[in-house]
Amino acid sequence: MDSIYWVLSRDCNQRCAHCYNDSEPGAPGLSLEQVDHCISHLPDPAEVEVERIILSGGEVLVWPDLLFHTLQRLSVRLGRRTELWVQTNGDLLDESTLDRLLAHNVKRVDVSSMDSFHPRSTTARLGYLTELFRSRGMVPAAGGEAASAPATFGFWGATPEQWIGPLWPRGRARTHGLSAAGPEHKFCGMWSGARNFLNYHGPGSEINLQLGDVYPCCPMTCRPIGSLLGESLISILDRCARHPVFQALNEGKPETMGESMGVSAEYARERTRELGNECLWCDEFFTTHATRLLMPGAITERGARDLESEVVQIHRKRPEPQHPPAFVATRTFQE
Ligand code: SF4
Ligand code: SF4
Repeated sequence: MDSIYWVLSRDCNQRCAHCYNDSEPGAPGLSLEQVDHCISHLPDPAEVEVERIILSGGEVLVWPDLLFHTLQRLSVRLGRRTELWVQTNGDLLDESTLDRLLAHNVKRVDVSSMDSFHPRSTTARLGYLTELFRSRGMVPAAGGEAASAPATFGFWGATPEQWIGPLWPRGRARTHGLSAAGPEHKFCGMWSGARNFLNYHGPGSEINLQLGDVYPCCPMTCRPIGSLLGESLISILDRCARHPVFQALNEGKPETMGESMGVSAEYARERTRELGNECLWCDEFFTTHATRLLMPGAITERGARDLESEVVQIHRKRPEPQHPPAFVATRTFQE
């Protein structure tokens, strides 16, 4: 498996207007016991090797005990073959924290907030952070000298030229109307989309964990496909691999995911155009046509937060299409 992106907590020192997972001060995170439980449900390294785990938030450094506990437990469980990366907004990073990260075998630190959405306090620290990284022998991740360095660093953000530039239609980006994603944006087939999420034995497989909940993509389906608090990751993926809806998402083609249920690709494309983009179509599909396919009662509650938002209520008020597809009742996914 290439990568597991893991949001340990949505607690953050910022409350950015565009935040895709509604992070903010005081938002929930995993307890240390829940972290241990989740880690016990990660793949056995003797069977499925995970190339890297990216720990993120929220802001991971507002709750250092949670971050360092997780790093320590991951090192014990997975050994040195899995690289540990940390993604931060950089606001709280200083010498002693960076030294502690490196002592916990962190191989890469990404400052992911270099854009106009984040407060100036973040972007103004670019020079300071660059010097700080270099003072510890770290080199830019994109440079050619990475192999000999103790760790690498990177800066990026939601700028127009980056893949996240149009902003996923999620969380506050959606409620604030900041997402510029249109029908032409194919998030699902891109890196961080759902493409290849099931192919854990091959390249290009990435899973998104929000607290304990498992999602096939970073934009997040309206509810998760499972929870690491109750099931192993491989068991969740193997279960999904048997269902044609998830097989279509694994190909990065949300327009075909309803075909086995009588929802045509032509209809999906029409709704994608009407709703604005394919992730909004995905929400509609799972809440209208495949209501029992995702997990209820998720602890990350994207469903409750986003699907009951005003924007979605507006979508729901749109007139029904002239020729709605034949509804085919779904079986319970566990069966
Ligand atoms: S975008 Fe990043 S820094 Fe801003 S609220 Fe969300 S997690 Fe925090
Ligand atoms: S279409 Fe659905 S599965 Fe694909 S990236 Fe968007 S939310 Fe994820």
